[in-house]
Amino acid sequence: MNREEIVVSREELERQRAFSGMVKALPHRPRSYHVVTYGCQMNAHDSEKIAGMLEEMGMTASDQRENADFVIFNTCCVRENAERRALGNVTWLKEVRKQKPDMVIAVCGCMIQEPGMAEVILKKYKFVNLAFGTANLHKLPEMLYETLNSGRQTVNVEDRDVIAEDLPIRRLRNDAAYLTIMYGCDNFCSYCIVPYVRGRERSRDPETILREAEKLAEAGVKEIMLLGQNVNSYGKGLPGNPNFARLLKRLDEVGIPRIRFMTSHPKDLSDDLIDVMAGGKHILPQFHLPVQSGNNEILKKMNRHYTREQYLDRVSRLRAAIPGIGLSTDIIVSFPGETEEQFQDTMSLVNEVRFDSAFTFIYSPRTGTKAADMEGIIPEDVSTDRIKRLIALQENLQQETLKRFIGTEEEILVEGLSRRSKLAVSGKGRHAVSVTVEGSEQDIGQIVKCRITGLKNNTLTGERI
Ligand code: SAM
Ligand code: SF4
Repeated sequence: MNREEIVVSREELERQRAFSGMVKALPHRPRSYHVVTYGCQMNAHDSEKIAGMLEEMGMTASDQRENADFVIFNTCCVRENAERRALGNVTWLKEVRKQKPDMVIAVCGCMIQEPGMAEVILKKYKFVNLAFGTANLHKLPEMLYETLNSGRQTVNVEDRDVIAEDLPIRRLRNDAAYLTIMYGCDNFCSYCIVPYVRGRERSRDPETILREAEKLAEAGVKEIMLLGQNVNSYGKGLPGNPNFARLLKRLDEVGIPRIRFMTSHPKDLSDDLIDVMAGGKHILPQFHLPVQSGNNEILKKMNRHYTREQYLDRVSRLRAAIPGIGLSTDIIVSFPGETEEQFQDTMSLVNEVRFDSAFTFIYSPRTGTKAADMEGIIPEDVSTDRIKRLIALQENLQQETLKRFIGTEEEILVEGLSRRSKLAVSGKGRHAVSVTVEGSEQDIGQIVKCRITGLKNNTLTGERI
């Protein structure tokens, strides 16, 4: 596809703005909205765009979904339980609507983009007013107008891989912001549904990304999180080969105090990127590098395109160039056919690397992916036992790895009051670790300097400097 086909035209965006005005003018339109978000940061950011569009249509946010006139579920389908949870909550709202018959219910996001799901909504979830996939997000004004005007169910799924710029965004935080640099994924890891529901990789124009970053800097944002399923392959198909390392270097010069990014695929992690990070002024010393498994045969079956040894080499390079770097990962246990010995390779890798944190998952078969047809499904009790052992190991190691921060200075971006004490606040340090310090509500959204003094339940505690 050429660029004109990928980027949604100005005319189309204007058309949607006109629909937005038409929804606003409808006498029976919803006045309040509530967005329920499942899944990753990409979905959280899509929800910010949905909220932005709804506010342009004259709606205001409602804290409680049961009180809102318009409730929209932004779904995830990466694992089966995320999908089950979303559908369960949608069904629950059907009951709530009996007390509030004008409530409009919408379901959108990755789950709707799954093959066959549109039919399921049409047949089994007739009470859902509107359903649309990730590719149609920018058409929300038009689809909502149709639904409200006709009173009929609207189900709209498209497979076009688009980039829609300049959508209104209602950001959840003023101090930290998501900034998408690319959409979709071309990797087709054999267990993963993402390439099927989020489409082919497409990168945003670097100048547009820089303009957005400059605006965020002017607005006083202290941290940006660059988003993409595989940020390291940023730039494919764009003129001038603007790869991720170069983009990051330019973003570092914008002057936003903290820059983070996710996710990185180990096979595409270049030395250039490591050099840019090491020489950066604002790029935080942290890296999320999903390993998935420590066994080469499983990695091959997962279609990950790296070996255990290559992964460990990337980790060594990162640590040599950026001493003390905060490292996190994703791990899947019980991939089809995984033996106890192969699982032990994952345990030994975790032991060897000593991550600061790890997101651990039991393999969940996803229809349409290659792994879903593989033999050797691991019994549930074995999977539960494996994940318990893995979590226990990680928690033990984390106690040790986090001790290296004791006595050091950290700058934390305060996210909120501590859950354990009203006189303390917590936030993320530069190395992506959580730190609790003395403070009050006034510190929320501020960068606070502290010295790390202790470690309690895998959370660091500090004293303000
Ligand atoms: N693009 C990112 C990457 O390559 O790591 C993350 C994508 S995915 C939304 C986040 C994590 O979910 C993956 O790293 C993987 O560990 C996990 N995941 C994806 N598909 C899964 C499945 N079918 N079963 C269990 N975990 C899965
Ligand atoms: Fe899924 Fe692999 Fe793409 Fe990540 S890189 S989104 S795990 S296919």
